Amino acid sequence: MRILLTNDDGIHAPGMAVLEEIAAALSDDVWVCAPAEENSGAGHSLTLNMPVRLREHGARRFSVTGTPTDAVNLAFRKLFREKMPDLVLSGINAGENLADDITYSGTISAAMEAALAGIPAVALSQALRDSGQGFAAAREWAARVLAPIIGTPMAKRTLVNVNFPARAAEEVRGIRVARQGFHDYSRGSLVEGTDPRGRPYFWFGLDDIEHTLDHGTDLEAVNDGYVSVTPLQLDLTHHASIGTLAERFAP
Ligand code: MN
Repeated sequence: MRILLTNDDGIHAPGMAVLEEIAAALSDDVWVCAPAEENSGAGHSLTLNMPVRLREHGARRFSVTGTPTDAVNLAFRKLFREKMPDLVLSGINAGENLADDITYSGTISAAMEAALAGIPAVALSQALRDSGQGFAAAREWAARVLAPIIGTPMAKRTLVNVNFPARAAEEVRGIRVARQGFHDYSRGSLVEGTDPRGRPYFWFGLDDIEHTLDHGTDLEAVNDGYVSVTPLQLDLTHHASIGTLAERFAP
């Protein structure tokens, strides 16, 4: 099984090393292609207004001076011309990717890029929340989460989003398949300051994000101490609105 690994926190991120350990137990044909620098919040961005460079860091280890999407796409176009990967794993992200984090997340977007190419893909994130436990839960639980996912055929243009709770590995209560929850970033914290040349600047914070721990959601599962497993689809069509909108446009 050929596996491509990436990580939106960059090739040198601690979570990248954790994922490399996990993948080494799954296959001996593991490749890394990740952004050279941290790209959290990059979403599904593809760099079009400047070139990107591919750097080799060792056998089957590469970085790209671009986004997580750049890294995966360039790997497909340049590194895997002969044989595409059978699986793409993105993570382990330092911090959770739950609910409406999805469209902001470089971690999940890298997995989306693989799903668009018809390759099974899993995004993996470790909630931290000042737990002091680091990647312990991911390290201990990843193999148990990945085995059934790898053994299940995925529907086209879908991927799986996995989040590990901010707990010691032995305090994780199990694995829950959950639906996507709800986040509202419009009222989050904002740091305001003045730069050395006297101009105001703003810096988006991630505190005070409004969310609800609705039953059956990924947010609830991780908050309750479970590993959440959420299947996602890239077809964002809201099917229930098609009829209503079509009526508005009817002649
Ligand atoms: Mn990140």
